[in-house]
Amino acid sequence: MNTEKSELLYERAMECIPGGVNSPVRAFRSVGRTPLFIDRAKGSRIYDADGNEFIDYVGSWGPAILGHAREEVIEAVTKACEKGLTYGAPTENEVILAELISELMPPMEMIRLVSSGTEAVMSAIRVARGYTKRDMIIKFRGCYHGHSDGLLVKAGSAALTTAVPDSAGVPAAYTQNTLVADYNDTASVEKLFEQYGKQIAAIIVEPVAANMGVVPPKEGFLSFLRRITEEYESLLIFDEVITGFRLSLGGAAQYFQVKPDLITLGKIVGGGMPIGAYGGRRELMEKVSPLGDVYQAGTLSGNPIATTAGITTLNILKNTPRIYEELEKKADKLARTFREASKGRIWVNQIASILSPFFTSLPAVNYENVITSDVKKYASYFNYLLEKGIYVAPAQFEAMFLSDAHSEEDIKVTCEIIREFFNQCE
Ligand code: PMP
Repeated sequence: MNTEKSELLYERAMECIPGGVNSPVRAFRSVGRTPLFIDRAKGSRIYDADGNEFIDYVGSWGPAILGHAREEVIEAVTKACEKGLTYGAPTENEVILAELISELMPPMEMIRLVSSGTEAVMSAIRVARGYTKRDMIIKFRGCYHGHSDGLLVKAGSAALTTAVPDSAGVPAAYTQNTLVADYNDTASVEKLFEQYGKQIAAIIVEPVAANMGVVPPKEGFLSFLRRITEEYESLLIFDEVITGFRLSLGGAAQYFQVKPDLITLGKIVGGGMPIGAYGGRRELMEKVSPLGDVYQAGTLSGNPIATTAGITTLNILKNTPRIYEELEKKADKLARTFREASKGRIWVNQIASILSPFFTSLPAVNYENVITSDVKKYASYFNYLLEKGIYVAPAQFEAMFLSDAHSEEDIKVTCEIIREFFNQCE
């Protein structure tokens, strides 16, 4: 594969951008090669600066559920651009998007739009603390909730493979109210509540952990979190930045039939443009400024182009019920292929249209087991697939995302290459 242009771009990038990238996982560090610089993407395909073509299973880390550059979305965005890029004033689009989110996700009775998942989570936690007048929160080891100071504790995603679980530059005082429990381990949560009880404002959880690779909740885990938060009058926050509109139209809350107090969104809700959203029960959201005393603001919040992409994407998902069923079938086919081809040498988790092959023989049902994965083996899997035209996450502890644009042929070709990889490993 010729990667001359990517290499030249990387050299230039290294001079003016830390690590040459604007988000760490893009640097391809844990797979030991130069990152590919992307030129364009269409449907299920992504093309690098040298013109190499790949079937893409990163999907911009989740937003591209309809595939890249879906015509209806591009058309709507192009039209919206002609009307100006930002006004810093309310628009009808913001109301339409908020109404649509509420309709699809009933726990979100009122919604605030922001510009990223990080902001959405940071703000939802502020609401939870403002409402309960308590300071502590519980997060889970290996769950990632964006890069705000108080949440960079035992975070997942790139923070796992770069072995920097905590970040420099975060004063200890900022994280002293962040308690850490183990995902899928009810006893670890009970213990924290017994000790800190009524100081805990909220539990924040990825209802399906997807930043230590995909780890679905054990039966009853989410309803346990609902019960214990109610018992201690704390709030339950579902971070649905990945699962929102991905597990189902109503996200994880609908999929698992557990109703959180607050939900955070990002990725799909912006249809490929930068948006985040947080929302929940009316009485909680009425705490947000200017109605209430929890301050939160944003120059580009509810941006007209981003809301246009979001509305168009959500409407397509809403009006095309076949999509979720088909997505799941495609993901299931890949998961089965991984299991068969690896003959038990790896562990595979799949739920709806996200999946992860873990290069460990232990069941990847919790953080402790997940981190036994052999990242070197993952790197050789990644590099093999890339050379054969398949673009998967350049790190073990991430998800593989299916889109409506992946054709049967795409899946077939991918399955063949996965089989080839495991055969040549034997
Ligand atoms: N929460 C979850 C569950 C995420 O996966 C991410 C990003 N991958 C975030 C929050 C942060 O979102 P953003 O990168 O848009 O700030």
